[in-house]
Amino acid sequence: MRISVLNRDRCQPRRCAYECHRFCPRVRTGDETIVIGEDHKPIISEELCIGCGICTKKCPFDAIIIIGLPEELGEQETHRYGVNGFALYGLPIPQRGKVTGILGPNGTGKSTAIKILSGSLKPNLGKGAPPWDEIIQHYRGSELQGYMRGISQKDIRTAQKPQYIDAIPKAISGSARELLQNLDERGALKDLISKLDIGHILDRDIEDLSGGELQRVAIAACIAKDANFYFFDEITPYLDICQRIEVAKLIQDLSKTKTVMIVEHDLAILDLLADTVHIVYGTPGGYGVITTPKGVRVGINQYLRGFLPEENIRMRQEAIEFEVHAPRPQKDIPVLAKFDAFVKKYPEFTLNVNGGEIRRGEVIGIVGPNGIGKSTFVKVLAGIIEPDEGAVSPDMQISYKPQYITRCDETVRDLLRTITKQFGTSHYNTEAIKPLQLEYLLDQTIADLSGGELQRVAIAACLSRKADLYILDEPSAHLDVEQRASAIKTIRRFAENNKASAMVVDHDIYMIDLLSERLMVFDGKPGVCGEAFGPFEMHEGMNKFLEKMGITFRRDEDTKRPRVNKPESKLDRGQKARGEYYYQ
Ligand code: ADP
Ligand code: ADP
Ligand code: SF4
Repeated sequence: MRISVLNRDRCQPRRCAYECHRFCPRVRTGDETIVIGEDHKPIISEELCIGCGICTKKCPFDAIIIIGLPEELGEQETHRYGVNGFALYGLPIPQRGKVTGILGPNGTGKSTAIKILSGSLKPNLGKGAPPWDEIIQHYRGSELQGYMRGISQKDIRTAQKPQYIDAIPKAISGSARELLQNLDERGALKDLISKLDIGHILDRDIEDLSGGELQRVAIAACIAKDANFYFFDEITPYLDICQRIEVAKLIQDLSKTKTVMIVEHDLAILDLLADTVHIVYGTPGGYGVITTPKGVRVGINQYLRGFLPEENIRMRQEAIEFEVHAPRPQKDIPVLAKFDAFVKKYPEFTLNVNGGEIRRGEVIGIVGPNGIGKSTFVKVLAGIIEPDEGAVSPDMQISYKPQYITRCDETVRDLLRTITKQFGTSHYNTEAIKPLQLEYLLDQTIADLSGGELQRVAIAACLSRKADLYILDEPSAHLDVEQRASAIKTIRRFAENNKASAMVVDHDIYMIDLLSERLMVFDGKPGVCGEAFGPFEMHEGMNKFLEKMGITFRRDEDTKRPRVNKPESKLDRGQKARGEYYYQ
């Protein structure tokens, strides 16, 4: 079985010479394997195509994907977005009383699956517009049959937390209180407000909320509704680790009586939250296959290794590997800069920073709750704001990626070209463009990018500036696991190759563990006062940080990945008693 997919956004017939049509050997022998449609874009016949792949190679915009798939998949086809559109195979199975996770790269059909399960997209099984009877019959013998019947009869009420919360203020006006009161269908609002700690921001306008506040309001809005099926498309962006764990608890409580599905790329949180996971593999933008459910530990381990044994599918050549690092001997590493102690005061917040030193070529992770002064610290270091006491004069150039990235009307190409003369060289392509998957975004306007695309551009822009120290604030937000792993490699390589250093503020423990050599820890009372300690060696820093948070991690026996211990479990209590918050 073979499918041909045309990426309609990339296809630009005005800027090419119809290479696909000109070079297709079948067309050259006179048949109609490729014809040009009314919109001037090619239509590829999957029946006539012989799969030589010439059109894929010749298309200057890489807009065509031709993929050979196992014949058996045909029976699992769930949806096809029209002729030469994206194809989805399989569906996740909603299970009452459980949290079902979906784990897979962006662009492989997770949202499409959710649209189908929430009733907003009628699946076409890849063949026109079949009636509901045929769809229900297609799922006979599986749990999905009854579910599909429910959707067809509009018996299933759904509630969803969208992926990109940044879009909420554009669609909804008024205060957070007004929004939530209108949705309080289960009488759960009071409890949600208290557990999500959003009482003090309820009278603020939605558009004035920070990312972390908006994320919690959006989660409260979804849980407050009375539905049968709840779907959360990423809960972690902009939330700190305690908030992530609190949300995980709320969603687990909800799942006791409801059906809950979640897409999440923070694997520590997915691991804690979900009972089972469906892995999605395929070619982003081409096709996606949703596996049958796996136990969450096994599923995440298979995903990290990049091989699904039951399906016999290799998803990735290299495994994502965790190492338990021994600290590097300090005397071997030259110091890049020292920063002295300083104080920064806002009317309602004071930050105290104890001095420290940054070593050349190292990546320092920065951890701490939200509202504790991490961004204030990096802004002072970057010279964007002045301290009130003490002087920060590390004699070095700093390049800074803020947490919230501004959109503008420039194209990605123009932005990067003005930042670095290296743009266009093969070195730059290998070091930045390819690993951050920017090849096909270059001609897009920054204002039109999705959250994940914008993040990758912002990481590239930050690393492309000439600097001694690169500071990146929450680079993991909106990236999938593959993209996080690539971003980690890119940041580390940039630091090493340019003999520069990097500081990374992030709440994804996997990102921090894989990326950092040392750790700065922020502690205090969020929104009131904060104090910065370190940098420490990783193990010491993590222990200090997690002790403050009251959270313990252990390492998975097989993959060495960190796993959150369930709060109050035997492991959690045992590690706390031994003072081993980050067990190696
Ligand atoms: P994910 O949630 O895994 O990121 P999506 O389900 O959003 O993936 O999208 C998978 C692919 O389906 C995308 O690459 C996109 O090209 C395609 N797609 C999504 N919605 C539509 C649509 N309405 N029409 C045509 N293609 C679509
Ligand atoms: P974090 O990065 O750890 O989330 P921030 O450094 O962004 O924390 O903020 C710490 C505290 O300082 C917050 O309470 C925030 O409201 C306050 N703050 C940050 N910037 C300003 C500012 N320009 N004016 C007044 N208060 C500010
Ligand atoms: Fe033609 Fe198919 Fe070969 Fe493309 S892959 S050039 S459509 S035969």
